[in-house]
Amino acid sequence: MKVKIKQDTKKVKIVFATNNLNKLTEVRKILGNRFQVMSLAEIGCQDDIPEKGQTLKDNALIKAQWIYDKYHVNCFADDTGLEVDALGGAPGVYSARYAGGEGHDSQANMNKLLSELENIDNRKARFRTVIALIIDGKVTTFDGIINGTITHEKRGGEGFGYDPIFMPEGHNQTFAELGVDIKNSISHRAKAVAKLADYLLKK
Ligand code: IMP
Repeated sequence: MKVKIKQDTKKVKIVFATNNLNKLTEVRKILGNRFQVMSLAEIGCQDDIPEKGQTLKDNALIKAQWIYDKYHVNCFADDTGLEVDALGGAPGVYSARYAGGEGHDSQANMNKLLSELENIDNRKARFRTVIALIIDGKVTTFDGIINGTITHEKRGGEGFGYDPIFMPEGHNQTFAELGVDIKNSISHRAKAVAKLADYLLKK
């Protein structure tokens, strides 16, 4: 299926292969008005793309390739994981489904992580994002990491996912307390998206 995207000729036009409105809002803010970022809903895609990869990179590639193959549009996808040192890097690629079930139950995921770390002093963790970009069939990947620690309780009301229990290095508030503007200036996703933007603007 070939999708026609209403074009703003002054902007770089690209589809972000996500149904996550929080991610979409973050990425649009980070990329600013030089880009026209279309969501899956905006190209009429309701697919629940399977994320069966063993790594974040595999999953980002699966999602981007799915959209490119089906709609023939330049696109990118991201996959993010929270890696906790004391748990050997878990939940990592399984972050969405950490508490089981269909996944994406952030409260259950955070509760499980807090209980796994209950008597553990080493709270070091990092968020890692991998973005896979496909332009005219050519695949490029970018990554971004933010180091930090897992708090002992949930704090703050902004952001999404694990934000209420992740305190980035150099701050004494969680991402959910710091708010989206500060998060977007330092986060794993912001770093990966900055690399993506550089690449797209040089093309
Ligand atoms: P995915 O990249 O959508 O597969 O996300 C994996 C898991 O990490 C989900 O549970 C998300 O809610 C969570 N997650 C992704 N990005 C972030 C973030 O920026 N902050 C906190 N949690 C996130």
